[in-house]
Amino acid sequence: MSSTADIPITHLSDSKKGQEKHHATEVGNYFVANYPPFSFWQKEQAFAVEKLLDTAPPEDVPLGLYFHIPFCRKRCHFCYFRVYTDKNASEIRRYIHAGMEEFARYAARPYLKGRKPHFVYFGGGTPSYLSVPQLRELTDRMKDLMPWDEVSEVAFEAEPGTLNPNKLEAIRDIGVTRLSLGVEHFDDHVLGSNGRAHRSGEIDRAYGIARSLGFEHVNIDLIAGMMNDTDELWKATVAKAVEMSPDCVTIYQMEVPYNTGIYKQMKADGKETAPVADWETKRGWVNYAFTEFEKAGYTVTSAYTVVKDPERIKFVYRDALWEGADLLPIGVASFGHLGGIHLQNQAEIAPYIDTIERGDSAIFRAYATSPDERFIREFILKLKLGSVRPSYYQAKFGEDVLTRFAPQLQWIESEGFGKVDAANDKIELTRDGLLQVDRLLHEFFLPHHRTARYT
Ligand code: SF4
Repeated sequence: MSSTADIPITHLSDSKKGQEKHHATEVGNYFVANYPPFSFWQKEQAFAVEKLLDTAPPEDVPLGLYFHIPFCRKRCHFCYFRVYTDKNASEIRRYIHAGMEEFARYAARPYLKGRKPHFVYFGGGTPSYLSVPQLRELTDRMKDLMPWDEVSEVAFEAEPGTLNPNKLEAIRDIGVTRLSLGVEHFDDHVLGSNGRAHRSGEIDRAYGIARSLGFEHVNIDLIAGMMNDTDELWKATVAKAVEMSPDCVTIYQMEVPYNTGIYKQMKADGKETAPVADWETKRGWVNYAFTEFEKAGYTVTSAYTVVKDPERIKFVYRDALWEGADLLPIGVASFGHLGGIHLQNQAEIAPYIDTIERGDSAIFRAYATSPDERFIREFILKLKLGSVRPSYYQAKFGEDVLTRFAPQLQWIESEGFGKVDAANDKIELTRDGLLQVDRLLHEFFLPHHRTARYT
């Protein structure tokens, strides 16, 4: 087993250099969504999933379902997801049928047969782009295949401009407990110039209806650092979000991956720096938002979230996934995790549908993790919560994180990004560390994963 403690800190050992490098927003991924990096997942490993599906189900691993809806009204300039803006109702129906067929085949395999989902997630794309009959047909069939009577969360992403009372009622009635509104910003010029399809009036309307319908948990997403954002506009956005009083707010820092409209424009203009705020400004904006929400009684629960009532409001999908739950991915480009194996489906809709209609597996690439990689994955993902307990990793993985990651933790402490409190069984990030946690996490990767591309 190669150890992360064996090698020196690489990327950030010279923190000044690290700061300079990360000052301007350049093209590339910032967000660490999973481990090992996606660039290591391979088509050849898809057989490992097939083998697993023929084995008996595990006794104590929760199961989640992820269904990907790849349709949007418009493509945002910063979007790096696989989305389609030109599909008509019959094409969408064909896609949904393919997804249901994929799900039905999975549900019949020994590893999944008879299991019930603990959580369900509709992501995209824009799940709320579906019509009410499409939503009903899809979820009725899903429930026939695997009943939802034991789910503790059904999360659903929505774009405000696609919502009306009728649709929101249907979303509530199918069992959605966590409605996540992709607000991103409240200024119409910022929204428009970043390619968003909705405007502030639609946000107000959708939010008001959702509240009146009594959704258990309403989250709003914001992005710090959209094109044309300013200190003033960001402060106004935060003030408006505080005033709305959602249960949870998720705030991302704008990144500019390669397959975005912004990058294409940068390339055409011969520019290396993206036309969005630099990293220090974005961190400052998130910090400002965190502080304002704290004044309003919210708690910072991760590098991206503030929650009004942490005792009541949980994010089951995130927590279960980070702790190694099974996640069955359905639909084009969907990501999942089964029995310690990461998997992703075909990334384009036409080959995805063809593959399913032919009766073949839609898995495009996979990665069978080792116990050590699962340990590192859970350690780095949970660091995003701002604090972890070493005893948890000792009990679950038999790993002493304080020894294993001694150089990394020393470096984090010396830079003021965190504090190790061994006596109280705690590794805690400072606010400064939390605001840039994704760039710190690479230090905990195995050596051969640190020097490779992330995606
Ligand atoms: S709404 Fe979301 S998924 Fe759709 S184009 Fe915009 S960022 Fe991408």
